[in-house]
Amino acid sequence: MSKVKCDHCRLEFDKDVMIEETIDGQKRYFCCKGCQGVYHLLKSEGLDSFYDKLGDQVLEPAKEVGEDLEKFDLEGFTHNMQQVTRVSDYTDFMYLGKFIELGETEEFFINPKVKLSEEYITGKFG
Ligand SMILES: [Zn+2]
Repeated sequence: MSKVKCDHCRLEFDKDVMIEETIDGQKRYFCCKGCQGVYHLLKSEGLDSFYDKLGDQVLEPAKEVGEDLEKFDLEGFTHNMQQVTRVSDYTDFMYLGKFIELGETEEFFINPKVKLSEEYITGKFG
């Protein structure tokens, strides 16, 4: 199976789990909607020279997030999947502090775009 690098964070994943998008005639790959979103945001603000400066560095997911999480109001933040499907229009899935996928709740649970999300939903881990 061929591996490709995410065009935002530069982490490498199997090609079949990546979000593929053609931007300015060039094929780009993103490991999650978060990376795709940040890429578009930087580009739309004319800040895409960030990627030139980044060079070959990889944007590793944060390892220690527990302390930071305490700074946020986590009302409406739940791990109960039934509750999520009942009350929310959109779901974002984070794993080990890394943003994995954002999507409309129904679409996310029925047809997740990222393999990790699918494995979580189907109870393979978590
Ligand atoms: Zn990425």
